[in-house]
Amino acid sequence: MKRFMLLCSSLFLLLSLAAQDGTKLSNDSSLALYRASFPHINDLVNTKLDVKFDYSKSYLYGKAWITLKPHFYPTDSLSLDAKGMDIHEVSLLKSNSRSPLTYNYDGSTLNIHLDRTYHHKENYTVYIDYTSKPNELKHQGSAAITDSKGLYFINPLGEEKDKPTQVWTQGETESNSAWFPTIDKPDQKSTEEIIMTVPAKYVTLSNGRLISQHKNTNGTRTDTWKMDLPNAPYLFFMGVGDYAIIKDSYKGREVSYYVEKAYAPVARKIFGLTPEMIAFYSRVLGVEFPWVKYAQMTARDYVSGAMENTSATLHTDALQQDARELTDGNKYEEYVAHELFHQWFGDLVTTESWSNLTVNESFANFSETLWNEYKHGKDAGDETNYLDLRKYLADPSNPSKDLVRFHYRDREDMFDMVTYSKGGRILNMLRNYVGDSAFFRSLNLYLVTNKYKSAEAQNLRLAFEEVTGQDLNWYWNQWYYGSGHPKLDIHYAYDDVKKLAMVTIGQTQGTGKIFRVPLAIDVYEGKAKHRNQVWLTKPEDTFYFAYRQRPDLINVDGDKIVLCEKKDDKTLANFIFQYRYAGLYMDRREAIEYCSDHQDDPVALELLKTAMKDRYYGLRNLTINSLDLDKPAVKSAVEPILADLAHHDPNRTVQAAAIEQLDSYKKTEYRDFFIQKASDSSYSVAGNALEALKAIDPDEAYRLAKQFANQPARGNLLSAITDIFINAGDTSYQSVIIEGYSKMALSQDKIDDLPHFVVSLLNIQNDKQFKKGIDAIIKLLKEIPPSQQKEFNAAVNENLLKPLAGRKDADGFKAQADYVRAKME
Ligand SMILES: [Zn+2]
Repeated sequence: MKRFMLLCSSLFLLLSLAAQDGTKLSNDSSLALYRASFPHINDLVNTKLDVKFDYSKSYLYGKAWITLKPHFYPTDSLSLDAKGMDIHEVSLLKSNSRSPLTYNYDGSTLNIHLDRTYHHKENYTVYIDYTSKPNELKHQGSAAITDSKGLYFINPLGEEKDKPTQVWTQGETESNSAWFPTIDKPDQKSTEEIIMTVPAKYVTLSNGRLISQHKNTNGTRTDTWKMDLPNAPYLFFMGVGDYAIIKDSYKGREVSYYVEKAYAPVARKIFGLTPEMIAFYSRVLGVEFPWVKYAQMTARDYVSGAMENTSATLHTDALQQDARELTDGNKYEEYVAHELFHQWFGDLVTTESWSNLTVNESFANFSETLWNEYKHGKDAGDETNYLDLRKYLADPSNPSKDLVRFHYRDREDMFDMVTYSKGGRILNMLRNYVGDSAFFRSLNLYLVTNKYKSAEAQNLRLAFEEVTGQDLNWYWNQWYYGSGHPKLDIHYAYDDVKKLAMVTIGQTQGTGKIFRVPLAIDVYEGKAKHRNQVWLTKPEDTFYFAYRQRPDLINVDGDKIVLCEKKDDKTLANFIFQYRYAGLYMDRREAIEYCSDHQDDPVALELLKTAMKDRYYGLRNLTINSLDLDKPAVKSAVEPILADLAHHDPNRTVQAAAIEQLDSYKKTEYRDFFIQKASDSSYSVAGNALEALKAIDPDEAYRLAKQFANQPARGNLLSAITDIFINAGDTSYQSVIIEGYSKMALSQDKIDDLPHFVVSLLNIQNDKQFKKGIDAIIKLLKEIPPSQQKEFNAAVNENLLKPLAGRKDADGFKAQADYVRAKME
């Protein structure tokens, strides 16, 4: 599963403060509970479902044939998860007849008395006739309240114009038992057959192969999907809707993309790298893609970012970027990579419990680094790795959590930045420690040993130990079954008489726990690099290195791989050398960050000028955004480079960043250039150019904004148009803005635009328009994944809605304020 980063830009600080407040440890008894592995009494063998959808009631009418066997001990009873259903019949299947079984049902568990005691070599099949009513489920008030319906009817009656009618399912963590009776635990596996009867105008998607389609006389069609390899119940999937299906292939197997028809022309720009990804992952893992086909579908009103249902991934419709958005590159390529890697890590080998979620999600997270490194180069991979490290560090509660956790409040809490971002870094660090070939050989062994079964973090350790011949308990105990990370304090001293360098590294995390860290220390005399392999084992370690001439640089953690925070007292000269000769993404990034803190120094400024033309666009962007143009020396020194990048950089995001900075020069000589760029195909470039134009020629900017308001606009362009209308005091285009914002799919941009959008509502006199704007915000709040909804709502309420509601006494705004108050409740 992949979640949105909602903690962003302007809301980021507010949210993280709110989070700190809200997460004060309560004396929560659920935390004291040890989360044991789920006991196996019966094991699933096969699940056959025959389902029909009632769009008028949002019901599913289902018949289930569930084949099971006792796990080991003989048993005469069976418990199935079946949430909020009407149960019409429970019987035992006997050759050609059904014999009724006695059962009791409490609305969530179906306890069945079998006709006799069964032994573990005996299969038996129960038949259940039921109705699933996902919208009437009684929830237990968990944080995951709205995303545990399992089955979702989107616009089922077609009442919402411009929104397609869709049905889709979301099983993780234990929600699929809302639409079929099963043992809804991740350590169960079952083969599967799903027979779906749907309106004939729709297409269907499920796990495995589509084996038959049968047209009925009543305007419906019956599709049968068969999955003949075992997979976990939470990975079962159904999707139904009006989609275009774009087909690619991988080694003769179908690779398909289900998108809304308007996006058919750009589907390959969004998903088209999938076959190459399958080939890459299959090759490095030495395990061929395990399933008969691979399909990806988009969903309206999706409750998460994406979900790796076996061979049938479901994504948020934010992936449906239009052609202009895709000019900047596919922002969701990592989603495609992440869900695909799950097809091995999660689907082929599945976590045996939510405590061990790392064996699913840390791998999927790590796969984003792996893919970017392969496809876009080492700099891109290193950037992914670093940005994820920062996500883990951003939340101060993260360092207190073990990666494998047997105590948690709610299983949904396991889907956090420790499991994802920290876990992904732990794997990347392990790859560096054992070496690429041992790493991938170990992953291969883990997959082959545990395929079609479930596994925990210890299975991974055993695979690594078998391949490397080393005891790795220390690594697992420290990183998987332990918490936190080292905070390193690094100092250098040189004795030119003895020709000896001294490096001291202190661990200052202050938790009493000292980390064992293998570390490369590179000593540079001129361009000649000597690598020294050392271990940190003490609160403070000291290392000595002999030299002929005083080193230009001593680079601690030469591969920039250690999961840590650090204070490194390098000099400016060290950093400049590091940028030039150490050369990794992180080496250059550290130098840029140091120099951007010392922009008054002409030597540092010179490095920034060099870095503005760094070979990697991510570092060009970093440098451009770190320039302090309030300093006259900086401002005049970088202008020609900014102008050059704004015109000619091959990457549109760099052009956009450069234009944004040129904005602060307020020079009329850029007027024609900004006008030209305001029509750029990239929303980022166009939006920033329009915004920059506003400062030097507001009339022309206003004229262009009116012109652009008649076309679809997203991202920066939408923000710029909104901003210009607000500044012009023009409310005649307000409806365009409100309509546009309301229609935008949930995405990072939409969240980033929110504060601008709220500001635009401040001047609206028309109450009807205003209410529509508030409704658009409320709609957004409902789209936020439930696990993040509470925090996000609190921040929006406090910082955006409260000020609007507070205008009660201001002239003319009472009705609006009342409306906001009502909605806030
Ligand atoms: Zn995932």
